[in-house]
Amino acid sequence: MTNTPTSFTATVLGIPRIGPNRELKKATESYWAGRIDADALHAVGRKLRDSQLTALHAAGLDSIPVGTFSYYDQMLDTAVLLGALPPRVAEIADPLDRYFAAARGTDAVAPLEMTKWFDTNYHYLVPEIGPETRFALNSDKLLGELAEAQELGVPARPVVIGPLTFLKLAKGVGAEPLSRLAELLPLYRDLLSRLAAAGAEWVQIDEPVLVTDLTADELALVGTVYSDLASATDRPAVLVATYFGHPDAALPVLASTPVEAIALDFTAGTTVEDVAAVRPLRDKLVVAGVVDGRNIWRTDPDRALSTLATLLGSTGALVVSSSCSLLHVPYTLTAEPGLDEALRSWLAFGDEKVAEVRMLATALHRGTDEVAAELASARAALANRATDPRLRNDTVRARLAALGSAATRRAPAADRAALQRDRLNLPLLPTTTIGSFPQTPEIRKARAAYTRGDLTAEQYTERMRAEVADVIALQERLGLDVLVHGEPERNDMVQYFAEQLDGFAATANGWVQSYGTRCVRPPILFGDVARPAPMTVEWIEYAQSLTDKPVKGMLTGPVTILAWSFVRDDQPLADSARQVALAIREETVDLQAAGIRVIQVDEPALRELLPLRAEAKPEYLEWSVAAFRLATSGVSDATQIHTHLCYSEFGEVIDAIAALDADVTSIEAARSHMEVLDDLNAAGFALGIGPGVYDIHSPRVPSVAEIERSLRAALKAVPAERLWVNPDCGLKTRGPVEVEAALRNMRAAADAVR
Ligand code: GLN
Ligand code: ZN
Repeated sequence: MTNTPTSFTATVLGIPRIGPNRELKKATESYWAGRIDADALHAVGRKLRDSQLTALHAAGLDSIPVGTFSYYDQMLDTAVLLGALPPRVAEIADPLDRYFAAARGTDAVAPLEMTKWFDTNYHYLVPEIGPETRFALNSDKLLGELAEAQELGVPARPVVIGPLTFLKLAKGVGAEPLSRLAELLPLYRDLLSRLAAAGAEWVQIDEPVLVTDLTADELALVGTVYSDLASATDRPAVLVATYFGHPDAALPVLASTPVEAIALDFTAGTTVEDVAAVRPLRDKLVVAGVVDGRNIWRTDPDRALSTLATLLGSTGALVVSSSCSLLHVPYTLTAEPGLDEALRSWLAFGDEKVAEVRMLATALHRGTDEVAAELASARAALANRATDPRLRNDTVRARLAALGSAATRRAPAADRAALQRDRLNLPLLPTTTIGSFPQTPEIRKARAAYTRGDLTAEQYTERMRAEVADVIALQERLGLDVLVHGEPERNDMVQYFAEQLDGFAATANGWVQSYGTRCVRPPILFGDVARPAPMTVEWIEYAQSLTDKPVKGMLTGPVTILAWSFVRDDQPLADSARQVALAIREETVDLQAAGIRVIQVDEPALRELLPLRAEAKPEYLEWSVAAFRLATSGVSDATQIHTHLCYSEFGEVIDAIAALDADVTSIEAARSHMEVLDDLNAAGFALGIGPGVYDIHSPRVPSVAEIERSLRAALKAVPAERLWVNPDCGLKTRGPVEVEAALRNMRAAADAVR
């Protein structure tokens, strides 16, 4: 650092990239299908970047993040930047194809693993750091995007993921990735000097890992790394960005290094007192994340301004910002003409958040008079929200109060098991599936035709019933024991329930990236939840009418419904969970009354909402388990409750899984080689368990011998009386031919082992 950097006043930490109309998704998928070439794909990317940067500048931001654009994922981009792609893709000559091979695999190479980005619903690719990894700087993408921004005359701030976050989230092949830190620092220093030479005044280095629990050694590394990087001679001013929580003990360490600026998330636990307590911040620029970058509620301007006003006294300079990248929210409310006026006025999507940042920065630096009209309309909207009658449903609240905590208990597991054994009469090692069957092109076409109005509701229902009948017939032919209806009528398992529950609203175009080209449209939970009518009973009843075997009712659990929605911020999540749980409980009771003997309540997101800090975990686990039990304890002891969990390492939630007290738990295990069973045993788990016997994430058909091996491995940990046989997740993404072949082999393997 040679000169004092130009300060700035209003920014966001990152921007979405899929395009306001999912242009990048469509172009990328066309490229994969061979319909367009790399130049055409790059042209789409360029156009999106240009229009976004120009718009952010025009909206009044005076420092604009550059480099958060990605063709797939920012962790993968960082692996490319640092020369850390796995050796198995190195042979692929074309850089774009090599990149996508690491992301998605090819016939010849396996992709990188994918996992959740902190406690969000975004998934990143996990870099693999092994003995063959030879780090080398490859700054073309970042420098290229910087040059583009400069051409547009935009005040660009390049963004990179920092070395601590990169290594802590990477997977070590052999040694701990963090042991390679010293090799990375020269690359980062080199990068800083290249950025300075290219004219960057600022660089943003993202270190969200600082909001997680760090060991004393790791905390010390924070100081080492940033003192080292700040010692580079020619470099831009450095902004270290933390988000999704409070940096706690890492804050004083970071603040005592010579970095010029620190971004803090005031929507996720960081407080003005935390800042006041760290004296060195009085000489730093603090980028105050007061506009929530992860949720869609309009910011309370008075609360934000009071935070900012207090911070003025304990910081060197103050910038208004979103709390994190806007990657996690939809682009704009202008694409939602269908939302009712009141609800719309309570919300802020990406564009609206940028306007809020600019408004708050103006109010802070030039006084509130200049933005009086905007302030007044924000206040009016918040006042309207607080008093909207849809927020409170007194019947639901009274019912929950009356249920109390006794409503979460069923008879002892062994007594239930005896009742269910008599009633269901299942063979040893019963076979089943997780719920969905392939969502075929015909199903998708019918749904699209129905949405367009080309099919009537009756015609659409007729088609879906025909699908259900096919799926039941297939399972009968295969000789499975507990059948499912196949979920053809569901687009997305959470959206499906949200559309039928009071208190939720759906968006028309509120897409956010989940991973790669996969986008989701999370529902908005804005008010008390109630179930006006049964949601699934007709479908399951119909499926059950076609067979004598038990058909599983199929529901989504309260935690997963919340995890995959934008949730209300005006009451604790635990309260919302109880309300959703009550609605699911009512559904289970109706299913039982309709003659359904087995009901599955999926909780694949149980692990996902686990707080980032250890101190907050017990409370979460307590209310999430209680919500599941409230949802599943309204039925008789003879009704068998199943649950399903996937997508994660279960280590930290093993006790909670046992505490769910479901009669049968199906769990992803095919890739983790059944280790989860030993963990469950150690936790005293003694209920039915169906560790997935094959991986459904790949189109490969597992052989009978392979599935037999899985089963025999499972039998080492679990007695046959408790073991179920099932794939490790739903089958909706697979093709019908491979599904039939795989399930036939699964049945044959079960027979052989029986
Ligand atoms: N029942 C759902 C299905 O089979 C479960 C999906 C999931 O685990 N994500 O698709
Ligand atoms: Zn699953």
